[in-house]
Amino acid sequence: MEENKHRSRRTRKIKSPQPEFWRRNSLEIAVVVLILAGIYLLVEKTDVSENILHFLKIVIIFWANFFSSIASFLQKWIEDTEASDIVGFTLILTAVFLLGYRTRTNLLKNYPNTRSCSKCESGLSRIHRKFRHKIIGLLFRIRVKNYRCLGSNCSWRGIQITTQ
Ligand SMILES: [Zn+2]
Repeated sequence: MEENKHRSRRTRKIKSPQPEFWRRNSLEIAVVVLILAGIYLLVEKTDVSENILHFLKIVIIFWANFFSSIASFLQKWIEDTEASDIVGFTLILTAVFLLGYRTRTNLLKNYPNTRSCSKCESGLSRIHRKFRHKIIGLLFRIRVKNYRCLGSNCSWRGIQITTQ
């Protein structure tokens, strides 16, 4: 499995040399772009640089306003928060955490890592995980592995779960 992964990575690299070129010469490309932009601004005597400055000012003012409104919102939120709010929030958070922990324990118990088919005892082969398996893995900090049975008369497919 591990070797397979390596091989596909290598072939991908050979197939597309384009990103490699950009990555290796990124400094040279940046230098060329900067020089061209500089020459353009020097040669072009119209108010292009004025426009750019104006545009930059608008962008900076926009972001400054954006962050200051977030800051004042947070400040107001903290000022308005009462002790009972904090306690309530903590209780709910604890309940969610406990529920998550129980779910994680159940998942680990219900999908044990057996390395053989639970129906016919044949060997198993890893297959691609579904998107939801990755989400569950991230959410509960577990490792979800998707398998299919290699037995000739068995069509079992399923997941097995281990701790990370
Ligand atoms: Zn089987």
